[in-house]
Amino acid sequence: MNLQSKLPHVGTTIFSKMSALAQQHGALNLAQGFPDYETDPYLIELVNRYMKDGFNQYAFMSGVLPLRERIAEKVWNTHQVRVDIQDEITVTAGGTQAIFTAIATVVEKGDEVLIFEPAYDCYAPTVELFGGRVVPVALLAPDFSIDWEYVKSLVNEKTKLIIINNPNNPTGKRLGKEDINALAAIVTSSHTFVLSDEVYEHIVFDGHQPYSLLAHPILRERSFVIASFGKLLHVTGWKVGYCIAPPVLTKEFRKIHQYTVFSVHTAVQMAIAEYLENPEIYLSLGDFFEEKRNYLIEGIQSSKFTVLPSQGTYFLNIDYAAISDEPELLFAERLIVEKKIALIPISAFYTENLNQHILRVCFAKKAETLVQAVDLLNNI
Ligand code: PMP
Repeated sequence: MNLQSKLPHVGTTIFSKMSALAQQHGALNLAQGFPDYETDPYLIELVNRYMKDGFNQYAFMSGVLPLRERIAEKVWNTHQVRVDIQDEITVTAGGTQAIFTAIATVVEKGDEVLIFEPAYDCYAPTVELFGGRVVPVALLAPDFSIDWEYVKSLVNEKTKLIIINNPNNPTGKRLGKEDINALAAIVTSSHTFVLSDEVYEHIVFDGHQPYSLLAHPILRERSFVIASFGKLLHVTGWKVGYCIAPPVLTKEFRKIHQYTVFSVHTAVQMAIAEYLENPEIYLSLGDFFEEKRNYLIEGIQSSKFTVLPSQGTYFLNIDYAAISDEPELLFAERLIVEKKIALIPISAFYTENLNQHILRVCFAKKAETLVQAVDLLNNI
């Protein structure tokens, strides 16, 4: 057979690998980023009701109108920014499809795409699929700060896209005002677009408010802003998200969306639209996860791990340098087999094989799971 792989370097993701190993060894799984608590029964009831009421056929290509209206309202309530429900919002099959389609919209053969590492795993393969070249910018522990002068030096006429993820998975870092201004300066003096992965937008801690590039007049004009209801509503398996971009970008985005997905689960969209009539659902999300973060941090304070700051997302990074010198992957595998807890080595989010002795813990878990996790981590 004459089949040449378009993605020869891609294998199974680290999340699937660690989850499979966790299952095999009966380990507590804090590796993959998904909640283990119950979905709000009211949300499930709404989906049920819309299905029974006959919302079972194709939705509008751009998303059902009530959901696009609710998204616009959410953007207004959160950022006091208006977005156009006809020409700027497209409901997608999760954040992943929105990311894929945004990259497909702008990246051509030979284009360069800047990615900050540690980076979420779907960016690079998608860029490569469309003939783009990934230019990784490695950010290092403990503070993962960005040297914007260096970033500027990497931007040239081939740079088509800069991908940011704020707050960031896996670091839990939130970009500051200086970061956003530095990005805006680069975008202004170049031809690059921005893909802003904001799937953890509402999960920010310590009194900070969510921030979106939609609130930045210059960046907004050049950006695809991506969100995920999987994260917002604790239903990662539903795979519903959206992309907000200016009309010229949305028009091209939808040409691809139309022929890949066309439209997303109708009853689920209707249910989400009704569910989000209560803005507290998203306005209280940060507090919900902050409590879990604090429990975990306090619980492992006297363990051998050093805790890195987590300003947002539902991830906490812990440094095990005081315990072992082993590379991250080996250490993480050993923890699963010997200590019955599964975490993710952050080296998996870098192109270069770095070893910073750091593992990512997902704390989107019910209280009992976190009690168990604290117990296990204190015994290492
Ligand atoms: N971006 C980031 C940073 C993520 O962590 C995830 C989910 N793990 C996604 C995008 C994908 O979102 P979805 O599950 O809605 O496709």
